[in-house]
Amino acid sequence: MTTYDFDLLVIGAGSAGIRASRIAGGFGARVAVCEDGPLGGTCVNVGCVPKKLYVYGASYQADLADAAGYGWKTSGTFDWSVLKKNKDSEIARLNGIYGGVISRAGVELIRGRGVMVDPHTVAIDGKKVTAEKIVVAVGGAPYSPGGVFDAAKNSDDVFALQTLPDRVVVAGGGYIAVELAMVFAGLGADVTLVHRGAQVLRGFDQDLRAHFAEVLTARGVKTKMETTIKRADVRGGVTELGLSNGEELRADFFLAAIGRRPKTRGLGLAEAGVEVNGKGAVQVNDDFQTSAPSVYAFGDVISKFELTPVALAEGMAFAKTHFGGQPTTVDYTNIPTTVFSQPPLGTVGLSEEAARANGPVRVYRSVFRPMKNTMSGRQERTLMKLVVSDVDDRVVGCHMIGPDAGEIIQGLAVALKCGATKAQFDSTIGIHPTAAEEFVTMRTPVAD
Ligand code: NDP
Repeated sequence: MTTYDFDLLVIGAGSAGIRASRIAGGFGARVAVCEDGPLGGTCVNVGCVPKKLYVYGASYQADLADAAGYGWKTSGTFDWSVLKKNKDSEIARLNGIYGGVISRAGVELIRGRGVMVDPHTVAIDGKKVTAEKIVVAVGGAPYSPGGVFDAAKNSDDVFALQTLPDRVVVAGGGYIAVELAMVFAGLGADVTLVHRGAQVLRGFDQDLRAHFAEVLTARGVKTKMETTIKRADVRGGVTELGLSNGEELRADFFLAAIGRRPKTRGLGLAEAGVEVNGKGAVQVNDDFQTSAPSVYAFGDVISKFELTPVALAEGMAFAKTHFGGQPTTVDYTNIPTTVFSQPPLGTVGLSEEAARANGPVRVYRSVFRPMKNTMSGRQERTLMKLVVSDVDDRVVGCHMIGPDAGEIIQGLAVALKCGATKAQFDSTIGIHPTAAEEFVTMRTPVAD
């Protein structure tokens, strides 16, 4: 019988890899995880966590302005170096926590870059380590197709910036582009978002996208839609950009947020018989097994849903199935998600367009000025929307743009998971006065 150094070797200590290794270790497996960067991967170091901290930082400008209507006399100046320093120390603290979590589960952390040699062997900085099962959980990285984007920085660079740039141009219209554009605008930069499509956030409900366009503008982000960047010249720290509409822009920070790709290049996957698709995503079956039977992959590297909680669920399912004797699958339906704009956008279930493609629906929509905005004078409106199947009265989509949208939608995601009907929403007592109560008091469907 072949003996291996470990039962499980995980390449990559991000959300997916840490969850899988620590749960497998907890079941008594001999587990190692190799990592050449800080622990926690994209989410902790250059993703969800620093982004949310910067969103908090950026939100104070609006809060200070709103406070005046409530009697506060405030004046504020912003110091980027404090935000950056405190963000760095918080992330260092989290890196340490991750180290503690895996070590308490008996997982060996091997420092270095892992490259696959064969289906049971990984060379970590040249030293060969063997395992019965190997997990590829190396995540993704910002994508650049080259050309004008060679002159661009990416989201990783945002979190390393030492000063707040005066003029920021953001290319892209996805989560990262809009979140970071609003962070820079909230902190006082002059921000222009250039997007090739007619609206940002492709794939989201159309009402949400239209409302979001107003929010972006109201929060100070200038937008150039159906526009591409034709020329980008860097001169003395300034990037001069020529747009397809003939306009010229000057940027102190030119950010490309045009998607991410799996970090599979140079990982030795072909040598191990692991197939990837044209975009570098590892191909897996429903059990996360790759074309090499002893090699598994999950998290951003499979490009299914690039969301931390999904990676955590996948890591958990893998560990339970293979080391806990509890075969577990991941339910990918009704995954709630939030764009951490200001205010945030939260959504779970189907857009109106997707739901209509499945059958007849009723749509309930409410657009209102949240109570706090009445005295602050802020004109911003909240949008809430429910999409209900006309066949069985089930709520199939909940959408919101407004304060605390992520917090509210998380609760409604449980209701959707339970198959809640509109009648059950209606029979739920509201919490008054909240914005969330609107979700249980929408009585009249929008006319088609
Ligand atoms: P997305 O895939 O969400 O968006 C990419 C954007 O770039 C789209 O607007 C796309 O336009 C545009 N684009 C793509 N290629 C080009 C190009 N060559 N030239 C110009 N524009 C281009 O990617 P992100 O980088 O924003 O985020 C990656 C993923 O990370 C997200 O999909 C999400 O899963 C995850 N994420 C989640 C967050 C959260 O949960 N809050 C936060 C940040 C990221 P088009 O629409 O026309 O294709």
